[in-house]
Amino acid sequence: MNILILGSGGREYSIGLSIYKEEKHNLFFMPGNGATEDLGKNINIKDYNELAFWAKENNIDLTIVGPEAPLVDGVVDIFKKENLTIFGPSKAAAMLEGSKVYMKNILKKYNIPTAAFLETNNENEAHDFIDTMNEPIVVKADGLCAGKGVIIAQSKDEAKKAASDMLSGDSFGDAGTNVVIEEFLDGYELSIFAICDGENYKILPAAQDHKRIGDGDTGPNTGGMGAYAPTPLVNEDIYKKVEERVVKPTLDGMKNEGAPFEGVLFIGVMVVKGEPIILEYNVRFGDPECEILMPLLETPVSELFYKGATKDLNSLDIKIKDEFSVGVVMASGNYPYSSSAPAEIIIDNIVDEDILNNTHISFAGVAKQDDKLMATGGRVLVCVGFGKTIKQARDRAYLLCGQVHFAGKKCRTDIAYQALK
Ligand code: AMP
Repeated sequence: MNILILGSGGREYSIGLSIYKEEKHNLFFMPGNGATEDLGKNINIKDYNELAFWAKENNIDLTIVGPEAPLVDGVVDIFKKENLTIFGPSKAAAMLEGSKVYMKNILKKYNIPTAAFLETNNENEAHDFIDTMNEPIVVKADGLCAGKGVIIAQSKDEAKKAASDMLSGDSFGDAGTNVVIEEFLDGYELSIFAICDGENYKILPAAQDHKRIGDGDTGPNTGGMGAYAPTPLVNEDIYKKVEERVVKPTLDGMKNEGAPFEGVLFIGVMVVKGEPIILEYNVRFGDPECEILMPLLETPVSELFYKGATKDLNSLDIKIKDEFSVGVVMASGNYPYSSSAPAEIIIDNIVDEDILNNTHISFAGVAKQDDKLMATGGRVLVCVGFGKTIKQARDRAYLLCGQVHFAGKKCRTDIAYQALK
């Protein structure tokens, strides 16, 4: 197949790498990064109508959308109108991520377990509701805020201020004109991904992300500093509850809403006293979860996504490797506060067979300059290790980290600690 991947991060690189290893497809990335050039061809057509035209001209058989923004903007609808095969939700279904108010109302309507909440665009109503709540209190802006639109307020005053700042447009502009005020859930967090074709689904091994910049989950939130899967924090009972109480009613519900869900349903779960409660939906893979899940698939990734895009998942018997993967993000020095100066990436010549055969790198914030690979800031790459145990996979990932050098590089040293403690 000719396969087009939209996006430029480690998530898209990892999807590309898995497909590249199938050794039978031509890959294109829009826009891609400095390393996706080694897997296929980077193109730069930002307008989705023009891109669909290009995809037709170039006989693209399958398009895979990495990030949420093109989905919320309706790229899938544009491609489908041109009879192109594309894996991802329609603009209407992408509202599950595009609007927290929409998502919470779907959860409520279809009796899917979630934190008690109020949605409002009225400051007085928000403040009155906050007065009835126990602390801490969670305040969320409705729209897309690049992962920054959630405030965990430790006091009622802080929660009221957060709500007022959102509603006035001061914090997040139009994304905050509606807010969700929500009960705080105390438990452990999981990322569960369901590949969906509107009706059928396949669940991938549950993963755990590490959002904070510092070891022991300290410091500010980031896009994610590392992940591992499968996590032993999930047992069959939790998977079953997630399928029965969450995935099935969501797919049925979205069909009922006239917006059947096709694509990756990313279920942010808080497990509270053994019960999975839904924090949020995203409508695409998490990053870095994608980087550790793609290599665990024995089923060809291209086949999984193609069947997802053509309502044919039922015919697929998904196969997952019997191993663990751990991904450690290496970020630039100033992440997540500010940008960093470009720095050359040097990777030692790895001779250790064990590392060579059981690790790889997923590249994210990189660009080619002459023949050099440069770190361009933010999250630069993910060192991924595989093993028969989480510890073995993690040790390998960290050994690989030690072989990668660029000025200011930093990573957490405790990825997967919850599984190993
Ligand atoms: P969200 O974008 O809704 O997933 O929120 C971002 C992060 O805020 C989540 O990954 C959780 O760590 C945290 N969070 C969100 N909602 C809650 C809640 N109701 N209780 C506790 N933590 C939450």
